[in-house]
Amino acid sequence: MKRLSEVDPEIDEAIRLETARQADGLELIASENFVSEAVMEATGSVMTNKYAEGYPGRRYYGGCEFVDRAETVAIERAKALFGADHVNVQPHSGTQANMAVYFSVLQPGDTIMGLNLAHGGHLTHGSPVNFSGRFFQVISYGVHPETEQIDFAQVKRLAQEHKPKIIVVGGSAYPRILDFATFKEIATEVGAIVMADIAHPAGLIAAKLHPSPIPHAEFVTTTTHKTLRGPRGGLIMCKQEYAAVLNKSLFPGSQGGPLMHVIAAKAVAFKEALGEEFRVYQQQIQRNAVTLAEELSRQGFRLVAGGTDTHLMLVDLRPKRLTGKVAEAVLEKAGITVNKNAIPFDPEKPAVGSGIRIGTPAVTTRGMREEEMRLIGQLVAEVLQEAADEDRQRRVRGKVRELCQQFPLYAERLGPKAKEHQS
Ligand SMILES: *Cc1c(COP(=O)(O)O)cnc(C)c1O
Repeated sequence: MKRLSEVDPEIDEAIRLETARQADGLELIASENFVSEAVMEATGSVMTNKYAEGYPGRRYYGGCEFVDRAETVAIERAKALFGADHVNVQPHSGTQANMAVYFSVLQPGDTIMGLNLAHGGHLTHGSPVNFSGRFFQVISYGVHPETEQIDFAQVKRLAQEHKPKIIVVGGSAYPRILDFATFKEIATEVGAIVMADIAHPAGLIAAKLHPSPIPHAEFVTTTTHKTLRGPRGGLIMCKQEYAAVLNKSLFPGSQGGPLMHVIAAKAVAFKEALGEEFRVYQQQIQRNAVTLAEELSRQGFRLVAGGTDTHLMLVDLRPKRLTGKVAEAVLEKAGITVNKNAIPFDPEKPAVGSGIRIGTPAVTTRGMREEEMRLIGQLVAEVLQEAADEDRQRRVRGKVRELCQQFPLYAERLGPKAKEHQS
């Protein structure tokens, strides 16, 4: 068998450099994580070769005995993990999961309600540049200007006025617990369906550290690759009465053949998430987020919504007279990866933003704890104190590298002997 390095040195090199980049820097993007070697092994398996349009036991292709087994196991584990009636593990991504739900119960032109993108929502919750904003009438709710938490008086008023078919609950940059029960009350009053999109806090919900949306939502969608720490992909859960229409809406409605290698890897990730170690991991993510938020506020930053109950925080940079765009760029030079983000009522354009979003799932996977979070908070502050100072960025880059070496990723974890063995 010819190795990748012989067949395609160009791509082999890109992968080697990306491996080094991940090992060598501080990954603070809230939507990213590092999967286990077992998840990666399943993702890189021969199941990528198999066409399996349809569902277990009802496929349009022969030879599906073993992929059926993998998909059935994935479904059963996801049900056990979240307590859902019905599960579909085939969405290629979180976006496809949301699309399948919308198309199962809505007609083009129907009204949906979702959290404003600029207040922490997601593109697929009705942004005009996304299919959701082009196919549907969109009413956005937001956070309250004082608390920066969801303004339920506004949600209720808008729901009564516009009678949406679906109320979407969830977001990508919302640092507080989501109150699914209150959304359900409002939805029931106006005859709307609740779709909870838990792409971000899925791991915290699976570990029972956050309240579950399952009793309150007709549909629950998520990605599998954020706090849940599985392969890149999506997942849909729903009440039994929607099972058939949902399955049809995904396939053949909006996708073709499922990615069986990814589904096998989802099964592995769900097994990991069912274990006690995962609960401890999720607890540590939360503790790390709180500690990092405290350190950043000690360093003079302002935290949107006053802090975090989750794995992420939104940092308002205006007290430091910086924009998100500048902060993202200079932190990158110091080996610290974050993303610029709008804050609620942001005076800057979205491409600039007054904030950065910071998350702890990936660094927690590396084994970092409270002590390292305090150090990271200090390093972020050191860089941003004088954003134009390149010596400072180089100095912090060195400290970041040192810290990362103490918490190795992947093969490095096995030590140099094992590494020789592998190559
Ligand atoms: C990440 C995310 C998605 C989309 O996931 P993709 O896999 O990138 O398509 C959807 N909804 C929310 C709330 C997200 O955070």
